[in-house]
Amino acid sequence: MYNIIIVIIIIIELKGGFDLATLKYSRQRESIKEYLSNSCEHPTADMVYMSVRQEFPNISLGTVYRNLNLLADLGEALKITTPDGGDRFDGRTHPHYHFCCTKCGRVMDLDLKELTHVNEAANEHFDGIIESHSLLFYGTCKDCLN
Ligand SMILES: [Zn+2]
Ligand SMILES: [Zn+2]
Repeated sequence: MYNIIIVIIIIIELKGGFDLATLKYSRQRESIKEYLSNSCEHPTADMVYMSVRQEFPNISLGTVYRNLNLLADLGEALKITTPDGGDRFDGRTHPHYHFCCTKCGRVMDLDLKELTHVNEAANEHFDGIIESHSLLFYGTCKDCLN
């Protein structure tokens, strides 16, 4: 029990120091993060911009995009690059796979266990070390089929 308390205190201290030094948590970024965590649409920067602008009318698309990329760099959001060039963002940061509809462009979560054997297969004839992979599945979504 004593150990657990110490660990919790250390985590809080690390987090506090980290936020102050490098993050400078802005209200705008907080708002962007909140929008992402409430959306399951994997929005584009444009979609986030349209929403956040209601709260911060002076915010620019560039600022939204910079904040989204920063959140992705910090591991607080996922960035999914789609073939039409648009980056999509996801507030759910646990590793998961995505499906991209080639008809409507929608990006959805796939209920699929992590394919760790893909890393092993790729490592088999590779001289370096492969640690992870990213995969995007393509096809036609249910709505576009009907
Ligand atoms: Zn579709
Ligand atoms: Zn997702």
